[in-house]
Amino acid sequence: MVFLSVLHIRNYIGGHFRDPHSAEWLDVENPATAQRYALVARSTRADVDEAVQAAQQAFPSWSTLSAKERSDVLLAVAAKIREHADELARAESDDNGKTLRQSSTVDIPRAEANMAFFATEILHSETATHQTDVHTLNYTTRSPIGVVGCISPWNLPLYLFTWKIAPALAAGNCVVAKPSELTPFTAFLFSKLCADAGLPPGVLNVVHGLGSECGQAIIEHPDVKAISFTGGTATGRTIASIAAPQFKKLSLELGGKNASIVFADAPIAETARKVARAAFTNQGEICLCGSRILVERSIYTPFVEALVAETNKFTVGDPLEESTRMGALVSKAHMEKVLSYIELAKTEGGTVLAGGSRVRVEGRCSDGYFVAPTLIDGLTEHCRVNQEEIFGPVATVIPFDTEDQAIAMANSTPYGLAASVWTDQLQRAHRVAHRLESGIVWINCWLVRDLRTPFGGVKQSGVGREGGTEALRFFTEAKNICVWL
Ligand code: NDP
Repeated sequence: MVFLSVLHIRNYIGGHFRDPHSAEWLDVENPATAQRYALVARSTRADVDEAVQAAQQAFPSWSTLSAKERSDVLLAVAAKIREHADELARAESDDNGKTLRQSSTVDIPRAEANMAFFATEILHSETATHQTDVHTLNYTTRSPIGVVGCISPWNLPLYLFTWKIAPALAAGNCVVAKPSELTPFTAFLFSKLCADAGLPPGVLNVVHGLGSECGQAIIEHPDVKAISFTGGTATGRTIASIAAPQFKKLSLELGGKNASIVFADAPIAETARKVARAAFTNQGEICLCGSRILVERSIYTPFVEALVAETNKFTVGDPLEESTRMGALVSKAHMEKVLSYIELAKTEGGTVLAGGSRVRVEGRCSDGYFVAPTLIDGLTEHCRVNQEEIFGPVATVIPFDTEDQAIAMANSTPYGLAASVWTDQLQRAHRVAHRLESGIVWINCWLVRDLRTPFGGVKQSGVGREGGTEALRFFTEAKNICVWL
């Protein structure tokens, strides 16, 4: 039954807001209060079909605009994000449970930056020529693919949604996008902003619903020629098994189990502060979080003491309060999963050094899904807690004796997304970085991002790279034209 007073998060198809064909709606909850505050469309194949049709109709005119014309529209979208930044930040916090501080200083500014970056990137891109000999010249063109699917997760909702659709649209494609049904609100607000900014109807279509229904219909649709997906490794595997036999282009940004490697020459207090930030930012719900902290044995005791103190500074509380450093986890199910890993750690021989349980916050958030920032030691690198992605505020500390041992530990999981190395020795920093099986390595920093750099993982953390020219290459097809002069 539909309650008309509740906010309805509708699909955005062909420039119109539409109810789902199923006439069914899913509850959307604020995880900090455990209260439903909206309903989101439960879309099915019929809605996806309409979205793909709308995108196909829009493609001929959008793809033949000049780069400058597309750039102008996308810059207008970026300006709308800036204008509505406060509303979007609040919506992101209510939807996901993250602190307002995080959404207003990181998520929403980055969503604006994503749009502006790719809007201007296309004004400066080049294609190659290859002169074979005096008679033969090859030149390469790059054309948009057509209709592409973009599927994004709940942890950085608008940030990752725009990270995908901005390069897709800038390159001249039309998009059918699905945000996570757990956090659909900012994608809904964003579709309104796109309409206001003058993005032509059908260029971006946002279809809401469950991954297994609406997401899968996007993946399976024969006219969706490329899929850009960010989410869990298991989902990525399912998507690859559907898309690969159809020879669709695939970009998969998947899970991680990232190591922060601390050598004895790193300054203890400063490094402990930064490594704690790497572990617990956004409740540990960032694929890049360093959840395995490897520490050289000679500084293990003082470093862990400093780390426990830093961990306890992540004050858990109402996400809207300025003093809160850690908000709610995204859902009850996710909170239970995170808590089950803390219990597992105890059975695997771990000792909880900080946190370790659910937190009851007073006031309007008394039923919210909060977990204390948790630090555990005493586990081997091969146990499940150190091998599986928890994706919450849980980090482990493990001592090592030699550089080789640290590298072997860091590389011991099936994942290979990101790592950080903390040392004052320049040569060691580079040497270790080169030997890590990881798509991204930070030295003496974490989460410092330049949107031009390749972003993605190796092993089970994904296939392909996003960012800068890598993203524009993914969303275009190259053609070589050979001329006899
Ligand atoms: P999921 O894999 O569960 O979901 C991601 C998206 O895919 C959601 O929109 C989901 O919809 C949809 N989906 C689920 N099943 C299917 C399907 N069969 N076909 C098509 N779409 C589907 O991931 P989470 O949302 O739980 O996100 C957390 C994961 O994302 C973590 O593993 C994290 O590491 C990873 N991640 C990776 C990043 C990277 O850049 N490498 C960045 C951020 C997160 P629904 O919500 O309805 O299930």
